[in-house]
Amino acid sequence: MVTLDAVGAAVERLWPLSGASSWDSPGLAVGDPASEVRRIHLAVDAVLDTADEAVELGADLLLVHHPLLFRGVTTVAESTTKGAVIARLIRGSCALLAAHTNADVVVTGTSRAIASRLGLTGQRPIEASTPDTGIGIVGRAAQPITLMALARALSDFLPPTAGGVRVAGDHDRVVETIALCGGAGDSLLDDPSVVASDVYITSDLRHHPASDARDRMLLGRGPALIDISHWASEWLWLEQAAVELRAELPGVEITVSELRTDPWDFAVVR
Ligand SMILES: [Zn+2]
Repeated sequence: MVTLDAVGAAVERLWPLSGASSWDSPGLAVGDPASEVRRIHLAVDAVLDTADEAVELGADLLLVHHPLLFRGVTTVAESTTKGAVIARLIRGSCALLAAHTNADVVVTGTSRAIASRLGLTGQRPIEASTPDTGIGIVGRAAQPITLMALARALSDFLPPTAGGVRVAGDHDRVVETIALCGGAGDSLLDDPSVVASDVYITSDLRHHPASDARDRMLLGRGPALIDISHWASEWLWLEQAAVELRAELPGVEITVSELRTDPWDFAVVR
């Protein structure tokens, strides 16, 4: 029998908590460590839809990228979103565990999943914690590529979202050195390896930082920008995580949620 405690140990081997950022709160949020785990369901977010899906599938554990509980929680009343998610999981006998920045920093982390799909060579972390691990990736395209072709390539392998792939820079601008960061990566906009790249791919870029970065590109002092869905950028990692968990936990069934938890349902473009 595989216990939740044993799953936690496997998670610790794959994504050690020591790699988590100081502000982060990954780990076990819901569940009895002594309980049996036969099935693990993977998702980016613990939201109502994925909690319901995990319970319907009979999963014993919902393993997510984003921790549900970050700041001080004073209620888990079901009139609150977090309370509703937790209550549904507990009623459905489903535990909840998150592997967040501790899964970003490893060699097979979230940004690597995107870099590998793009076939980048010479991959190295942007914010390195060791020579091989850290947040974000910079590497080279197999051959120079236009921003349009790069955006199309991303759009082809990322799961579809209403926001799609947005680009700051000319369609025909040719890029070769590519920096990227799965999830919200505006904190890396001023990083020397991002500034020195031809293009920076990340998500959740807000107006002012993006506007400033675009002007820096126009001055020839910074990269073009590609903004992708936060959820989509991290969803790609789930398959990799599933492969690694299956190797660690033979006999435990591991499934990946295909529910879109990007919050936007549709967009109107004119
Ligand atoms: Zn994220």
